[in-house]
Amino acid sequence: MALPPGHPFPISKYSLLKERLLSEGVLSADDLIEPEPIDSAALQLAHTGEYLHKLNSTGLSAAEQRRLGLPWSPELWRRSLRASGGTLRATRAALETGLAGNLAGGTHHAFADHGEGFCVLNDVAIAICTLRAQRAIESAAVIDLDVHQGNGTAAIFEKVEEVFTFSMHGERNYPLAKMRSNLDIPLRDGVGDTEYLDTLEQHLPVVLKQSQPDIAFYLAGVDVAAGDRYGKLALTEDAIRCRDRLVIETVRARGVPLVIVLAGGYAATRERTAELHAHAFREAVAYERCARCNRAVVEGRQLIANAQTLIESGQQPQGSDQQKLNVLEKGRTPAFDGMADELADPSKHEQRSEHAPQRHLGAAFQPIDRP
Ligand SMILES: [Zn+2]
Repeated sequence: MALPPGHPFPISKYSLLKERLLSEGVLSADDLIEPEPIDSAALQLAHTGEYLHKLNSTGLSAAEQRRLGLPWSPELWRRSLRASGGTLRATRAALETGLAGNLAGGTHHAFADHGEGFCVLNDVAIAICTLRAQRAIESAAVIDLDVHQGNGTAAIFEKVEEVFTFSMHGERNYPLAKMRSNLDIPLRDGVGDTEYLDTLEQHLPVVLKQSQPDIAFYLAGVDVAAGDRYGKLALTEDAIRCRDRLVIETVRARGVPLVIVLAGGYAATRERTAELHAHAFREAVAYERCARCNRAVVEGRQLIANAQTLIESGQQPQGSDQQKLNVLEKGRTPAFDGMADELADPSKHEQRSEHAPQRHLGAAFQPIDRP
């Protein structure tokens, strides 16, 4: 979709991000799913009929377009439908697999009855309402770390007890009239790495404890970066990556499915914006890969413990247990299928020790001593 020359919204960041993640091998083509546009039944769960009717037919007035910050066009509408479809699809995938993301979305300034701040539809609200209506989830937590308050999301769920909205944002930044989230943490202008990460580390576990969500949504806006055109905070790139990792680990360590959506980012160039957005996906993939290994390590240890008990009581492991032990002795378990390279060379597996207490897999799979 083309915007008028000089328009401040970096519309090309989406395709740049996708290209970057594919070229780095963070994602493969098989990991990507082209979403369907969201359907009108789902839209109606989060937006008013009057607003949807306008979007579907006449379009938005000049005043409404000014508030939105984007020129209305049928193409913008189609794009918004597909972006919301992406978040819903990612939500279903996260419920199945634990973690998924949309390489778009996080349009948190969209209210039930109007759009603003570059946001036509509230994709996260639509996904939550849809899955609640289908009884796939009861509760959800929204972790909104875009530098701007998630005003639309806060308003949509203000009276919905089962949806916990958490927003950490610039106090003196847009939107000037803040809505009420379940937990709002306003930050003063110029906040840097340590204060930001300490504040997040303090509040995030409380959010998850209080909300006990069936699923969490992470709006990983990168407009917190130092030098962002609309940001006013001063985070370094390292801190953004730490932030992403902190959210992913804190949520996933509790076994809560997580959906990552982009939200805002207005760095000096579109390439730079895409680069900053890529961190959340790099961290997500690294974490999940590691979690898979850690699960297998636990499984392997259990198997060894069982076998040792049998051997101590004078019996031999039988059948499939014996087969699994044979595999274990060679340093592989069925759970590691597809990870042969990493097993052959543990340094390839994961470079970050904090993710991988059992990084050196050999140590976890010591061959058992046969009597
Ligand atoms: Zn923002």
